[in-house]
Order: sequence, then structure tokens, then C-alpha cells
Amino acid sequence: MKMEDLRELYQQVILDHNKNPKNFKKIEAATHESEGYNPLCGDKIHLYLLVRDDKIEDIGFEGSGCAISKASASVMTTEVKGKRVEEAKALFEKFKRLLMGENGNQPDLAELGRLAVFSGVRDYPVRIKCAALAWHALVAALENRRDAVSTE
Ligand code: ZN
Repeated sequence: MKMEDLRELYQQVILDHNKNPKNFKKIEAATHESEGYNPLCGDKIHLYLLVRDDKIEDIGFEGSGCAISKASASVMTTEVKGKRVEEAKALFEKFKRLLMGENGNQPDLAELGRLAVFSGVRDYPVRIKCAALAWHALVAALENRRDAVSTE
């Protein structure tokens, strides 16, 4: 896939997931929860996880924020649902490297799947925190950190 195609796909994914976010729900029986806040943009997320036998059986989020934070949260939930806790954390490490451009200019699409489109935020550095917020909240929830996570 060419970078231009990836940019186009980026716009599409952001629009689609912002309009119809996946797993936008509260989970009453959540085993893990966290709050995330990105003061730079005002994005807020409340994340719910249902973890059983070290596996993320269900995940949901609520909150308000810009299109990128919401779309990223939506895509993140679809990617980590059904994964083992360690797999989800490893995926965040890969996603972080993608956002920072540390993988070089060509993201590894085979490895990152739909997450690869978020390489588009590199064109807008202030948006990197918006895209990363849900993931920070995910790790905080998995590690049972009670304080609200902030991207600052
Ligand atoms: Zn934002």
C-alpha cells in the first residue's frame, strides 16, 4: 500500500469510527477500569475491561473528545478484544513506535493491520496524544492504576 493510499484510508477510518464507534458502552461487570485525560485537547475516556484467565473478553469505553481520540479508542477496542493481556500490551508498544515514526516511514501493515492507518497522525504531531490516549488508559486499567492517566 502506498503512503497516499494510507492517508486516504486514515481519513476514512477516523470518519467512520468517529461516527459509529465500536464498543462504545459501559461494562457493568468490568474487572478493570480507568480514566484517561488529554489536557492538550480536552479528550476524556473512561475504559472498561472484562478480563478472565488473562484474556480480554470484553472491552468498552465512554467519553468525549476529538474525532481522532474517539476513532483511536474505537479501533483499539476492536484490536485488543479477545487478546491476551500481554499481547495487548505488546501491541501498544508497536503502536507507539508507529506514532513516533520509529519504524521508518513505511509502517508494517501485516503486523499492525488497521492500526497502521494511524501513522497519518505523524503529519499532525499535536494529535499523537489524542491517538495514544485510549492505549494509555488500557495499560493503566490492566495494571489497576487508580489515578486518572494523563498524557501530560
Ligand atoms: Zn484530541
